[in-house]
Amino acid sequence: MILERPRQPLRSRDAPKPKLGAGQLLVRVATCAVCRTDLHVVDGELPDPKLPLIPGHQIVGRIEQIGEGVEGFSAGDRVGIPWLGWTDGECAYCRSNRENLCDRAKFTGYTIDGGYAEFTVGDARFCFHLPELYNDVEAAPLLCAGLLGYRSLRKAGDARRLGIYGFGNAAHLVGQIALYQGRELFVFTRPGDKAGQESARRLGAVWAGGSDEMPPEKLDAAIIFAPVGALVPAALCTLAKGGIVVCGGIHMSDIPSFPYADLWGERVICSVANLTRHDGEEFLEIAPRVPVKTQTETFPLAEANTALEKFRSGQLKGTAVLVVDTDL
Ligand SMILES: [Zn+2]
Ligand SMILES: [Zn+2]
Repeated sequence: MILERPRQPLRSRDAPKPKLGAGQLLVRVATCAVCRTDLHVVDGELPDPKLPLIPGHQIVGRIEQIGEGVEGFSAGDRVGIPWLGWTDGECAYCRSNRENLCDRAKFTGYTIDGGYAEFTVGDARFCFHLPELYNDVEAAPLLCAGLLGYRSLRKAGDARRLGIYGFGNAAHLVGQIALYQGRELFVFTRPGDKAGQESARRLGAVWAGGSDEMPPEKLDAAIIFAPVGALVPAALCTLAKGGIVVCGGIHMSDIPSFPYADLWGERVICSVANLTRHDGEEFLEIAPRVPVKTQTETFPLAEANTALEKFRSGQLKGTAVLVVDTDL
């Protein structure tokens, strides 16, 4: 499925198998989960995508062929391909294990072709082995919602009282890890979203309310997954001194101004950019121990536009996963 121009539906097209280069894996795609970032790309909210583009960056598949110089993978292995698809490996960021900040980084399903397809190639340095516990559908949402959510959680440090704004896929996954780690979870949904608040309480949140409400206690950290800038000053007001607001999304509307007094007391606002391989390895190791459970809704690859539209209009019950070629 191909994006020829932003703000147009994806087109189904027969494409040749991608060419395998040195250091790469040719992967037969089994499933690919749909991320909010895919919507931002398709809707033209992220600048300069590769065009035409095959979107999708939560890819589960099996290795068909291995490029020159690849170690640690064999033909037939199941692998996951995430958002961070390539970095130069030589800049100051890369050399200090902060490849997520590499200026020359390339992103799967954005600046390089992704997984809404039968085959894809991935740079082996950024591909992951996946825990056996998960089948191809269950594993796909771990690769972005899970990974970036996990990086956001790490940014929250050892915060005991953790707020989460926007109870979507990432929140659902990261909330399970936070509870496993013994943190108290406070979930903020759209005002009046009683169903969302109820599902947060079922997951184990000690409190769930609207984003216009104050939690019963001051929080040590708040992660914002909703792409709404106005939530930043709102979240800041819920923090105890020394607390941190972590903005977990790649795209957010403008942040309105707020009094300096709200930031005073060594409160911090930060963003989370992409992922490092280390985050991925750590998350995929911890996820089956929790065990983190994913909620999914499957669509055949040819119905990618339907999946995107349902996501856009908030009609999904879980993470949309495109099923390409799996035995399930
Ligand atoms: Zn670099
Ligand atoms: Zn994503």
